[in-house]
Amino acid sequence: MTDEGSNDGLLRIGLPSKGRLSEAAAQLLHDAGLSFRRTERTLFARCRDMPVEVTFLRTDDIPVLAEEGAIDLGITGADLIAEHCRHDLGGAGPGDSGPGLIPRLDLGIGSCRLAICVPEKSAVASPKDLQGARVATSFPTITRKWLGDRGVTVHLVELSGSVEVMISLGVADAIVDLVETGSTLAANQLRILDEIGRYETVLVQNRGRRHADLADRIVRRLEGVVIARSYSLLEYNIPRSRLAEAEKITPGFNSPTVSGLEDPDWCAVRAMVRRGETHAIMERLEAIGASAIVETAITNCRL
Ligand code: AMP
Repeated sequence: MTDEGSNDGLLRIGLPSKGRLSEAAAQLLHDAGLSFRRTERTLFARCRDMPVEVTFLRTDDIPVLAEEGAIDLGITGADLIAEHCRHDLGGAGPGDSGPGLIPRLDLGIGSCRLAICVPEKSAVASPKDLQGARVATSFPTITRKWLGDRGVTVHLVELSGSVEVMISLGVADAIVDLVETGSTLAANQLRILDEIGRYETVLVQNRGRRHADLADRIVRRLEGVVIARSYSLLEYNIPRSRLAEAEKITPGFNSPTVSGLEDPDWCAVRAMVRRGETHAIMERLEAIGASAIVETAITNCRL
C-alpha cells in the first residue's frame, strides 16, 4: 500500500452530507465493507477496517474538492461533474471529467435526466423557439453550451435550487432541471421540451492518485457490489440437445458454467443474468425444455 504525500496516512473519500444521494452512497460503502458510524453533524468519520476517512460534503462541492486533492475519491452526480468540468474545459461533452479528475465507476444509483422544460400549455415546440427567452437553471454551463450548439441565445437565470417554481414566479419562460420520476414537473404543470443528458452517481478520483493501491482496492470492492446489485445468478437443468440455444439466452457475464448431470442427456447451467430480465429469461428457458430453474440474489462478486 502506498502512502506518499499523505499527512495522516488515511485515504479520504468525499460523500454527500445530505440530500437524495447521501444515504444511498453511505449504504454502498457499507456494502463494500467500508463501515463507519457518523455521529450527528460531524464532518468526518473513520472507517473501521481500512485506513480510510469519510468526509461529508455538499454534493456540488465534491467535484472541485476532488480536483483540488482535498479528497482522494468522491461520490457525486455525473451531472455536477459535467457542469464543473465544462467550466474548466470551456465546453467539453457530458461525462468528461476534466483535467483534475479520473472517472472510476458508475455506481448504478441516482439515475436522472437533465431536461429543458416549458409550461404544459406553452406553444414552444423546439429549443429554437426559446431564442431571447429567460431560462432558469442551476446548470448554467451545460445549458449555455447545449443551447449555443443549437444557435440559440437566452438570458440565463442562475439559481442553486427550486428551479421548478421559477416559471410560475414569473422569473423564467423555461427551465433546465434534473428529472427523475417527473412528478415535480407534473406538480408544476411543466413538460419536457428536450432532453439534454442522462446522468447517474459516479465515483471520481483525484489525478494525483494518492494512496493509489488502496483506491484501486476500494474501486474493485464497489464494483463488486454495483455488479451484484444489477445481476442475479440463474441455475437450471437443460437437455444437452438444447444447450446451444440455452447458452444464447443466458450467455453469462463472461460465459456460463456448464456441468454434467448423472443422466448424460442432461446438463446443469449457471449464469449471471440482468435482474430486470430474469422473468422473461426464465420463460424462454422453460419454453426450450429447461427445468429446475432457480434464481439466486447475489450481494457481492469479483468477475
Ligand atoms: P422528480 O420529481 O422525481 O422528477 O425529481 C425532480 C427533483 O429532484 C428536481 O428538483 C431535481 O433537481 C431533483 N433530482 C432528481 N434526480 C436527482 C439526482 N439524481 N440528483 C440530484 N437531484 C435530483
